[in-house]
Amino acid sequence: MQVLFGGTFDPVHDGHVAMAKMLLATFIDAQVHVIPNSQPPHRVSSESSIHRFKMLEIAMQDVPGVTVNPIEKNRPGPSYAIDTLQQFRSHFGQQESLVLCLGADVVGGLEHWYEKQYLVSLCHLCILSRAGEMVSLPDITSAFFDTDDLDLLSNQSCGLLYRLSTPDIPVSSTAVRRLVMEKANRLPVPSKIADYINQHQLYKDVK
Ligand code: ATP
Repeated sequence: MQVLFGGTFDPVHDGHVAMAKMLLATFIDAQVHVIPNSQPPHRVSSESSIHRFKMLEIAMQDVPGVTVNPIEKNRPGPSYAIDTLQQFRSHFGQQESLVLCLGADVVGGLEHWYEKQYLVSLCHLCILSRAGEMVSLPDITSAFFDTDDLDLLSNQSCGLLYRLSTPDIPVSSTAVRRLVMEKANRLPVPSKIADYINQHQLYKDVK
């Protein structure tokens, strides 16, 4: 089973680290991949994919078992999830269970994803619902079969939807970027990431 947790990670923060730990604890025996995009399809990143990738590598050093996967960093053009999933499928084969994890804020945007109709035949969806909040799901997710059976998720290669109740960690990269601009004393990021941001003078002139 391969678990994919993607995003812009601009920068990685305490919420992302907690989610990676949560995914490891939930999907025992799975390989958990944290995948920073190179060129986010629906937004502009503040810092380069090189800095974002490096920060993730540093943050995940304290989360043994997680792979910071360069698959999107190494692919030119917009970082479409469908392309990443197809690369995983080619590499791991038709039988492998692929689980795409999406935070509640990301799920709503699924309707606008490139070639979204192929998701159901490529992967399962794992919806991260903070503190068990009810996440409203867009129409495209009705193609997936709801389950709370982790064994089924592991035995089937794609097509299921699993809701994972996660702790509520009220932090976002947007808030971190704002705090850096405001010269806040403390950032909700691992201390090595605060040091990296300071050392490389990141997020100084972010709008
Ligand atoms: P931004 O504020 O720049 O939009 P973000 O904090 O939402 O960034 P992303 O890189 O966009 O971070 O998110 C990557 C993934 O992590 C997404 O699936 C997102 O829903 C999830 N995520 C982000 N913050 C949290 C958090 N505090 N708790 C749980 N999941 C989170």
